[in-house]
Amino acid sequence: MLSTMQDVPLLISRILTHGSTIHGTSQVITWTGEGEPHRRSFTEIGDRAAQLAHALREDLAVAGDDRVATLAWNNAEHVEAYFAIPSMGAVLHTLNLRLPPEQLAWIVNHAADRVVIANGSLLPLLAPLLPHLKTVEHVVVSGPGDRSLLAGVGTVQVHEYEELIAGKPTTYDWPELDERQAAAMCYTSGTTGDPKGVVYSHRSIYLHSMQVNMAQSMGLTDEDTSLVVVPQFHVNAWGLPHATFMTGVNMLMPDRFLQPAPLAEMIETQKPTHAAAVPTIWQGLLAELTAKPRDVSSLTQVTIGGSACPPSLMEAFDKLGMRVCHAWGMTETSPLGTVARPPANVVGTDAEFAYRLTQGRFPTSVAARLTGPGGERLAWDGESAGELEVRGPWIAGAYYNGVGAEPLRPADKFSEDGWLKTGDVGTISADGFLTLTDRAKDVIKSGGEWISSVELENALMSHPDVAEAAVVAVPDDKWGERPLATVVLKEGSTADFETLRAFLADEGHIAKWQLPERWSIVETVPKTSVGKFDKKVLRRRYAEGELDVTNLSGQHI
Ligand code: AMP
Repeated sequence: MLSTMQDVPLLISRILTHGSTIHGTSQVITWTGEGEPHRRSFTEIGDRAAQLAHALREDLAVAGDDRVATLAWNNAEHVEAYFAIPSMGAVLHTLNLRLPPEQLAWIVNHAADRVVIANGSLLPLLAPLLPHLKTVEHVVVSGPGDRSLLAGVGTVQVHEYEELIAGKPTTYDWPELDERQAAAMCYTSGTTGDPKGVVYSHRSIYLHSMQVNMAQSMGLTDEDTSLVVVPQFHVNAWGLPHATFMTGVNMLMPDRFLQPAPLAEMIETQKPTHAAAVPTIWQGLLAELTAKPRDVSSLTQVTIGGSACPPSLMEAFDKLGMRVCHAWGMTETSPLGTVARPPANVVGTDAEFAYRLTQGRFPTSVAARLTGPGGERLAWDGESAGELEVRGPWIAGAYYNGVGAEPLRPADKFSEDGWLKTGDVGTISADGFLTLTDRAKDVIKSGGEWISSVELENALMSHPDVAEAAVVAVPDDKWGERPLATVVLKEGSTADFETLRAFLADEGHIAKWQLPERWSIVETVPKTSVGKFDKKVLRRRYAEGELDVTNLSGQHI
């Protein structure tokens, strides 16, 4: 028997219509770097999204599932593109502006983007790329920047964003699309091999946004203002632009001002209640606030994900009243996978902090299982460590494989029964909390046992003299692999390797056989395009003899 319910597709245009009417007075506040930030209400965003859709359809002939790319910071115009492009039926393709130019060109060609909407400040990056972009016919430029850079670079037509949308109708008859249709795409950062395209549907984004809004996820309301530091090109800014339009949360957008000092100023003057970003951003902000204290009392909830949140960072933020909520996800999971909100029975007890440090609990729609090295299912006992596999309505089941080609389902990424193999290794407790111990490719395999690089890093970063630490596996004649600890010391620190090694054993409770013998001081830990530790670069630098390594093997057990 079929239900008697209406069959209404879950569409992004519905989120836009809802946000721009029911929450019309909520605002997107864009930081400009000088004076008052720029404010645009959700109603204005809705009007301008309709105007942009008219311009794309009528002037640029965007039709069907044409890909329209954005090369942009987090700002109001980027939010307009977020809603206009999928709502009209086209596909939004957010470009990661921190990728190497060759990779960016590869991605644009692979997705066959027809239009690029770019911020003026990014034209120095875009202009030299243009001759290599085979399918791009139009570039639409918004915001300050030197347009002359585009003169004479190929045959693309260049448009001014504001001129293009001026005078267009502020309503659009959004089509009733199939909810499974492509709405947006995002390529993984591709640390190994070519980047892979993940294509989100209207339905997956809609359901994911509802989850983001649940109290056990971010749980924000129209009383909140969210400082969206996580880039709109990094998994749709973790779903925030869509989720905020559902609930009327104001968005504070940093544009290109992502350095610690302007972020501190944004918090002090605009008083956001929530913020989201990767740990690297928060480490920088913490150093800034330590050097120059500010009033950050409005900011009571900080979502941290993208890499493991070091316990020292959580503690320091807690002391400042900025309560950290740790979360795990990936480009392939839209990204919300788990959120670390402790269960009610541990709140207020000594166990609470340990729960908050886990990657978190799975929501209803994300089914999870652990697979051991031989393909066996592992128990949720908090001890058995295996590769995490997930399944759900906002989890990728394949990768985009170029125009006309069948989607890609590589066997190392998808199980035979269609689950996503995350490449993350960890345990799940009986009450469903995930603790990641490593990426499968970063775990250190020493004499048949596994050493977690993340555990060593977290312990090192809790030492008062250590600003950052990354640990990678390096080849070892006797043990197969051993950990190499690379450390960034705080200014003026005099800590030596013996001291740090003893600290790991005494304070970090690291087993003796896991303690690194190889140590190196580095100026900074290399980062990927989305601000994570780039361990591939560290391993290469070690292999090529570029690191100055001290070996304490005399003390080796
Ligand atoms: P990306 O697709 O670039 O967002 O990268 C996804 C990967 O980031 C995951 O597979 C994890 O390895 C890592 N990651 C994300 N969140 C966390 C977290 N909270 N703790 C540890 N690793 C994380």
